[in-house]
Amino acid sequence: SDEEADAALDMGHDLGRAVLNARSFAREQHAAAYTQQLIATMAHELQNPLAAARGYASILEDVLDELGVQDADARRSLRGLERASGRLVDIVTDLLALARATEETDPTQCPPVDLVGLVGDSVEMVSVQAAPREISVTLDVPAHPLPVRGEPGDLERVASNLVGNAVKYSPDGAAVRVTLTEEPDGPAGPHVVLAVADDGIGISAADQERLFEEFFRSEAPEAVQQPGTGLGLAIVKRVVDRHRGTITVSSAPGEGSTFTVRLPRADA
Ligand code: ADP
Repeated sequence: SDEEADAALDMGHDLGRAVLNARSFAREQHAAAYTQQLIATMAHELQNPLAAARGYASILEDVLDELGVQDADARRSLRGLERASGRLVDIVTDLLALARATEETDPTQCPPVDLVGLVGDSVEMVSVQAAPREISVTLDVPAHPLPVRGEPGDLERVASNLVGNAVKYSPDGAAVRVTLTEEPDGPAGPHVVLAVADDGIGISAADQERLFEEFFRSEAPEAVQQPGTGLGLAIVKRVVDRHRGTITVSSAPGEGSTFTVRLPRADA
């Protein structure tokens, strides 16, 4: 009948549109993969010349010392060069970590790793940096291991990025609290929960929406004073996603922040 033909045409129309959508999706996916690859390659290629530039700057400084050059302009220029190349090295290092966190391998196929030990190591590392500012980092973990499947290096980066940020965006003398707990069996199985809490500058609701975007940095005056690339939380989010976990933030300006990561327990 005409009606049936109309319905079939409609379906054909929908199908056509679905195919077009699928094609443009594939193109976008392809473009995204290409862009990722390009960024990774560029970052890799930039590493050596950047390290060289930084090395030359420091040699030049030694030369100025040896020659007894006091010229303030020369000294200032050299310090600027070192700062700028140092910043570029930081960006390139983070870009490489981001590219690595996007690789196609499935970390949930990795052997189990104990999060208690791994987070303990991260906390110890960051504590050393926090000590001069008299910031205490306390760690509260259960007495037994909490295994999750994943890449130890990537998981450690998650912990040290979050704890590092908590220290970075807190005033001198503040306290940072890190806890690991188990979440009882839900529909998605048992989870391990990492919480990193600080009493630092906090994050506005508007900034919270964009926190995990690449290169996002808050423009809040207390935040911009701190150096950074804006890539740390983007890396954290990707690593957590790849491990089939979730990350949430609870924060308000002036009231500190708590970042909570949930990862599936290994023996689930
Ligand atoms: P970076 O610290 O290099 O700028 P991140 O991706 O780690 O980049 O963080 C993005 C932004 O989120 C930071 O610039 C900062 O404004 C905000 N932020 C992250 N962690 C905290 C925290 N614990 N307290 C307050 N602000 C934070």
